Amino acid sequence: MNNQLVSMNVKCPKCGKSLMDHAKLVDDKPGIKMLIKTAKNAGTIWLSSLYGSYHLECNIAIEKDEIAVFSCPFCKAEMTTEELCGICNAPLSAVVLDMGGKVKFCSRKGCTKHSAEFEDLSLALKKMYEEFDSYSSKDTQ
Ligand SMILES: [Zn+2]
Ligand SMILES: [Zn+2]
Repeated sequence: MNNQLVSMNVKCPKCGKSLMDHAKLVDDKPGIKMLIKTAKNAGTIWLSSLYGSYHLECNIAIEKDEIAVFSCPFCKAEMTTEELCGICNAPLSAVVLDMGGKVKFCSRKGCTKHSAEFEDLSLALKKMYEEFDSYSSKDTQ
C-alpha cells in the first residue's frame, strides 16, 4: 500500500542530468540510479523514488553500518555534503529535486535518516496533490 507515498524526480546537483532509471524499477517506479563506493567495493545502487520508502537495489554487498560515497553515473560528481547525519554522524548526501529543492539522505547503510527540502513548498505540495489525485480519485467530480 504505497498509495500515500509520492514519487520524486531527482537529478544530479552538478550536471543536472536526471538520475531516474526507467529501465530499473524500485517500488514499481523508476529507480534513482547512482554509483556507490565503499571501502572495499564499487557498484551501482538504485534507490526508491517514493518519498518515505527505504527500498533499494544494489549490485554490491554493503556491510551494515558501512559509510558509502554516492556519485553521479554521468559526471561522477560525489553527492556527499558537509552536513552530518543527526542520528549517526555520517556525512549526508544530497540530490536535487526537479521541482526545486533537495533530498538529503544518510550515507550510512542501515540509517534511515532522510529529508526533503523544497524550494517552494506550496508548489511542491500542489504537485504532490496532483500526483496523489492521479493515483486515487477516479470518483471525484
Ligand atoms: Zn552529474
Ligand atoms: Zn545516519
